[in-house]
Amino acid sequence: GPRIGVFALQGDVREHLRALESCGASATAVRRPSELDSVEALVVPGGESTTMSKLSIEFGLIEPIRKRIAGGMPVYGSCAGMIMLAERVLDGRPDQESFGGIDMTVRRNAFGRQVDSFEGPVTLSPFDDPFHAVFIRAPWVESVGEGVEVIGRAAGRIVAVRQGSLLATAFHPELTGDPRVHRHFVEMVRAALNVTEG
Ligand code: GLN
Repeated sequence: GPRIGVFALQGDVREHLRALESCGASATAVRRPSELDSVEALVVPGGESTTMSKLSIEFGLIEPIRKRIAGGMPVYGSCAGMIMLAERVLDGRPDQESFGGIDMTVRRNAFGRQVDSFEGPVTLSPFDDPFHAVFIRAPWVESVGEGVEVIGRAAGRIVAVRQGSLLATAFHPELTGDPRVHRHFVEMVRAALNVTEG
């Protein structure tokens, strides 16, 4: 299967590695630029985006990841990973950086201001049946640019988006055993690789 890395400086890395393997990908942890070079796509896990920002700068990963995104590498981000894929972050730390790529504004800990965690069914446009989504101090998407496809909403807020080969969810499909989001991403990766290889 396609070689998909999981950003592994912080976050729920093992859960994503397992989910990707179960979808037929060859999944590997990415902590350094040489490991990034060896993968065809990337997942940015749930966790803490301020720490991901800090460590990706310290470990020299932020610029290589930005370059790969600009070059068309498919990336999926869940929760903190969604924040890392946002061009604009509200309620971030003053020095917080993201990888960017998706033309959207996200607000950190947005749902968490009322209640830290909640779960429930969310309708996602790629799937026929509702997806049981787990939100943990989750961001929401405040606004998207024209090129961004909104694929899911919860409590009236945008919680899942796609732009080209970039996919992001405010919730954590890696925690609940429903493989559909990872399967969808692996299909996006296969499609992107077929185009590249002609
Ligand atoms: N609140 C975290 C952040 O701002 C995200 C939480 C999560 O990934 N579950 O990065």
